[in-house]
Amino acid sequence: MSEVRLDGVRKVYANGHVAVAGASFVAASGELLVLVGPSGCGKSTLLRLIAGLEELSAGSIAIADRVVNEVPPKDRDIAMVFQNYALYPHLSVYDNLAFGLRMRKAAAADIDRRVGQAAAKLGLEAVLGRKPRELSGGQRQRVALGRALVREPRVFLLDEPLSNLDPQLRTQVRRDIADLHRELGSTMLYVTHDQVEAMTLGDRIVVLHQGQIQQIGTPLELYDHPGNLFVAGFLGSPAMNLLPGRRDQGHFTPDGGDGWRRELPGPPGRVVLGVRPEGFRLDPAGTEFTVRAVELLGSDAHVHAHRGELEVTVRLAPRPLPKVGDRLPLALDPTECHWFDEASGLRIG
Ligand code: ADP
Repeated sequence: MSEVRLDGVRKVYANGHVAVAGASFVAASGELLVLVGPSGCGKSTLLRLIAGLEELSAGSIAIADRVVNEVPPKDRDIAMVFQNYALYPHLSVYDNLAFGLRMRKAAAADIDRRVGQAAAKLGLEAVLGRKPRELSGGQRQRVALGRALVREPRVFLLDEPLSNLDPQLRTQVRRDIADLHRELGSTMLYVTHDQVEAMTLGDRIVVLHQGQIQQIGTPLELYDHPGNLFVAGFLGSPAMNLLPGRRDQGHFTPDGGDGWRRELPGPPGRVVLGVRPEGFRLDPAGTEFTVRAVELLGSDAHVHAHRGELEVTVRLAPRPLPKVGDRLPLALDPTECHWFDEASGLRIG
C-alpha cells in the first residue's frame, strides 16, 4: 500500500503568505492524482510539502499509513521529477541514472539491473553512453523520469515535468508517463497548470485556486458537474460560456442579450448560466448572434459571436465556415445547461 493522505495541511510562508489553506485529500494506492490550478495557486507548495522540502504550518501528511511530518525527504520513499531535468552534464545517461543508487551505496549488480530496466521502460537503451547535451529534450526528460524510476519508490511526485518540452514532445512524453503509471501501478502525484494534461492523465483531479481546494473528482465528473464557477471556467478549452442573468417565470434572461429570453428549466433569481461551446448548435429557429471572430481547427471551428453586449464562444462544424459579420441563429441545448448561484459561485442542483 502506498496511499498518500493529507489532513488539514496548511502552509504559511515566513512573509505571512498563506500558500495552502487547509488541504485534505487522499491519493489512493496506485492512483495518478493530478493537482491542477493557475500559477500561484499553491500546487508546487503542496507537492514540496509531501516531499518534505517544506515544513508544514499545520496538519499532517501520511505516506503508506505512516505520518511523515517529521521524516526527512530521503526517508519518505518518494522520488521527485521536476520541470528542469537537472541532469549532470558531464555524466553519461547511464551514470546519471546510476548516480542516486551509487550515493546510496547500492551493489553494482543491483545498479546495473535497475538502470537496465529503467532504460528499457523508457526507450533509452541506445543512448546510455551519451551525454545529456547529445539528447533531445524529450530524451532528457525521460532520463529525469528514469532517475526517479531506478529508485523504485512507493510514490512519484512530478512537478510540471512537461513544461520545457515543445507541444509535440509534450504529447509523446505525456503518453510515456501514462504508460509508465499503468505498468508500475505506483502512486503518482502530478502537478500541472495545464488543464489538458490534467484531463488526459489524471485518474482523479484536485483543482486548486488561491491555496484552496475547489473540487476533487474524475476528469469527467469535473467536466460534467463543475462544483463552482472557478472549476467551470478552468476546465475545458475553449472555456465554458458563463452568462450572468436572471431566471423568472420559467425563463432565463441573460444580461446584455438585447432582449434574448429563453424558456429554460432551472432555479429562480440571479444566476449564472454555464454552457460549453459544444452546448450551442445552429438552428433556423434559434436566436441571431453576429460573428466576431472565427478560429478554424480543421475538425471544427471556434466561433466567437455576440448579441448586443452578450458574447459567446461556440464550437461548430467548419463547413461551411462562418465569416466575421455573419449572422448565425444559435440554439442552446437545455441538457447542456449548468446553473450557478451568482453570489456564492456554487453550482445549483
Ligand atoms: P504554484 O505551484 O501553484 O504556481 P506555489 O506553490 O509555487 O504556486 O506558490 C503558491 C504561492 O506561495 C504563490 O503566491 C507564491 O508566490 C508563494 N510562495 C511560494 N514560495 C514562497 C516562499 N518561499 N516564500 C513566500 N511565498 C512563497
